Amino acid sequence: MNVNDSEKIVALLRDEGYETTDNAEGADLILVNTCSIREKAAQKAFSQLGRFRMMKERNPDLILAVGGCLAQEWGQNILARAPYLNVVFGTHNIHGLPEFIRRVGNNGSRVVETAFAPSVKSLNIMARPEKGAVSAYVTIMQGCNNFCAYCVVPHLRGPEESRPAEDILAEVETLADHGVREVTLLGQNVNAYGKTLGGSPGFPQLLRAIGRIRGIERIRFTTSHPRDLSEDLMRCFAEVDAMCNHIHLPVQSGSDTILGRMNRGYTRGQYLEKIEGLRHYCPEISVTSDVIVGFPGETEADYQATLALMETVTFDNLFSFKYSERKGTAAVGFDRQVPEKVKSERLQRLQALQQEHTLKRNRMLEGRVKVVMVEGKSKNSDRDMTGRTRCNKIVNFRGGRKLAGKTCSVLIKKAHLHSLRGEPAGGAKDPCSSK
Ligand code: SF4
Repeated sequence: MNVNDSEKIVALLRDEGYETTDNAEGADLILVNTCSIREKAAQKAFSQLGRFRMMKERNPDLILAVGGCLAQEWGQNILARAPYLNVVFGTHNIHGLPEFIRRVGNNGSRVVETAFAPSVKSLNIMARPEKGAVSAYVTIMQGCNNFCAYCVVPHLRGPEESRPAEDILAEVETLADHGVREVTLLGQNVNAYGKTLGGSPGFPQLLRAIGRIRGIERIRFTTSHPRDLSEDLMRCFAEVDAMCNHIHLPVQSGSDTILGRMNRGYTRGQYLEKIEGLRHYCPEISVTSDVIVGFPGETEADYQATLALMETVTFDNLFSFKYSERKGTAAVGFDRQVPEKVKSERLQRLQALQQEHTLKRNRMLEGRVKVVMVEGKSKNSDRDMTGRTRCNKIVNFRGGRKLAGKTCSVLIKKAHLHSLRGEPAGGAKDPCSSK
């Protein structure tokens, strides 16, 4: 979501005559778009601001702006810690950025705007994909009403708000006209899409409508809340051709006690039923998830229940974190905090188990031909290209730059932990097409 917000910011500032640069020293404006989902991310943002402060000392005309969740969280108070900032803008104020910067340029004033906007103007800002890009993000909603006990998002991104379907469809059509063939729909809880619009269309209907747009071959979405995952949505994986066979479905814990303390709104059994349903409609679906270890009150038995759930599901990948206390969330007041050492040790064991599972799942693709949408040159070799399968696995294979943006049939030769190695599939004269 932050990447998408940054793309929107770039689009807005291009209209003001700005261009992006890799040379920070020569910039007129430096804007830091921040995350504060974990304490570590917030610390990183402050240390980056400190580095830019030195540039501002050398160039007093440089405009320094900070946006995103850290700016939302700190508001005016951020100036006590970073008094050199010119603009502080919150998660609902992106649309006002050109005006904030003009105000600074005109009279050198400092601007702090972090009020939640009554309407979702920021939702309708359209990022412009780079020339030749085949993939794009599309925001479909913002905010969250769930208030999971550990999560700062509802406090910083505001209440859930869905973007009108006609605006979303118009954006996807425009993207398709510009050659985009894969869209990733974004929201804190996309499965709840439509609730603030009176329930219709819901998320499955939106997916079906996007699936009918000419030129869109792949639809992805993130993130899903297990409680709101309906059978109709599961059915979309079987019925909508463009749906990619991958879902990110955060479980957070395998213990009912901890899920209850987290206020997640589902049990371990209900989560497993959802996985069963997804695999019923889409047997090859790849499933990824999030887990927090060391949530307050997590005993060794609770932790073992999480490992057991992982064994049952065999996730394709897992984003796992140690619980990190966030100011203003319910869990701050919880008793039985888990010592840091125990959290680290649990995280290590859990990640070792996940590595086994990721490799196991990746190896299942060895010897098979997968359709890869080529994103560009591989980071590891000039002679290789890289892309993704529909099930969201990264595939590297020998090929030239002319393949960028094409769809290639690739024979998977070797599975690694973070990617697959392949070669253009034999038989077909040209294993790649531009469609
Ligand atoms: S559903 Fe996700 S974004 Fe919303 S409160 Fe829970 S963890 Fe945070």
